[in-house]
Amino acid sequence: MTTVFKFGGASIKNADAIRHLTPLIEAHRDRPLVVVVSAMGKTTNALEALLADARDGNRGGDGYQERLASLKASHREVADALFGGEADSLKSRLDALFDELDEQHRHYRDSPYPEHYDQTVCYGELLSTTLVAEWLNRQGVETEWLDARELIITDEQHQDANLNWSATTDAIRKRAGGEDRVLLTQGFIGGTSGGASTTLGREGSDFSAAIFAHCLDAAEVVIWKDVPGLFNADPRRFDNAVQLKRLSYAETIELAWHGAKVIHPKTLGPLKQKAIPLTVRSFETPDAPPSVIDADTRFDTEHPSCILRDDQVLLEVKSKDFSFMDEPRQHDILGRLVEAGVHANLIDGSAMQFTLCCDNKPERLQPLTDSLDADYALERQEGLTLLTVRHPSESLLERLSEGRDILAERRNATTTQRLFRTDECPETWHIPD
Ligand code: ASP
Ligand code: MG
Repeated sequence: MTTVFKFGGASIKNADAIRHLTPLIEAHRDRPLVVVVSAMGKTTNALEALLADARDGNRGGDGYQERLASLKASHREVADALFGGEADSLKSRLDALFDELDEQHRHYRDSPYPEHYDQTVCYGELLSTTLVAEWLNRQGVETEWLDARELIITDEQHQDANLNWSATTDAIRKRAGGEDRVLLTQGFIGGTSGGASTTLGREGSDFSAAIFAHCLDAAEVVIWKDVPGLFNADPRRFDNAVQLKRLSYAETIELAWHGAKVIHPKTLGPLKQKAIPLTVRSFETPDAPPSVIDADTRFDTEHPSCILRDDQVLLEVKSKDFSFMDEPRQHDILGRLVEAGVHANLIDGSAMQFTLCCDNKPERLQPLTDSLDADYALERQEGLTLLTVRHPSESLLERLSEGRDILAERRNATTTQRLFRTDECPETWHIPD
């Protein structure tokens, strides 16, 4: 049975990191292996910045040219470090991808942003996998490079494409079933049946790994990260976060959905359906105890989990004529969110007010607030932090909120969300005992 490995940007961020891959992959060569790889390091962010320049009409300008040159240089640098003087043909393949990328910016400049995004940001993964495939093959690990845009078949909802599961299953099984060499492909990206590139949402490579595992009835998915597993809070923000060694699919979905930047929230569904366990391991300390996610729910409430989302916008929507914010109005407002492609991280309703809290993404939020402004009395507040706590006790909540105004709140039996002003939040948080 197949194993699926996923390596994120941090695990291939430079030549040393890429060298690290070989023993991890070799140790699994007794079974068929599909390896899903993200873009190197922060390449996707750099490609987004390049895109912004191109859309501002600055493709010929210094900013765009510098960004492109620096992306090129960082990939060439890794090629040089890995292969020394033997990198000419690889470098010309990388250059050809960069030329294609530049050409895409010319071609899609006047297309809608999400479409332009997908035709260009996908190059991060195309570049990284070209490098990694070359490395593995030269190490004697026979590796076949596959173009995920021909395997992960989606609709045309750019930046958040929906999978066509039957076409994807057919394509993957035809191409990837029963191989004895390593199959290496890109995370995050897919393609429409018409041949356009699509993406699955930021950090979507985990989801790609789950799609391959689901379609191939894999034995296991391993996500290799720069941390030993999943934690009950972000260790960079909380000084006493602890590793969660066992977790259910359902609990992990909740954590990811609420913004724990551990695993893409769409990853768990396809694995749960086929009871494929997911293991999260550190590529730096591969023998350290991992986090294992499967159907077992027994350990889910062992530790409360805290999740922070910064740069939040609070939208308080009231009717202009003092009428109730009843179901038809809530329905109308949520419809406008869907239309604008805005996700609400918190939703709460009362007689006179419908409350929403969203990420501050101006390109999506502005059209939404313009539309709400026209028909409702809208108040908006920025600079906010949303804290979500799973399985909290009353005293834990109290202590986590001490000294801060609660601007909005939503709670149910398992989860409490509270919205604070960011400037009232601590630099480093602590989960009280
Ligand atoms: N490279 C993409 C991103 O940074 C996908 C991923 O890393 O999973 O969002
Ligand atoms: Mg990434």
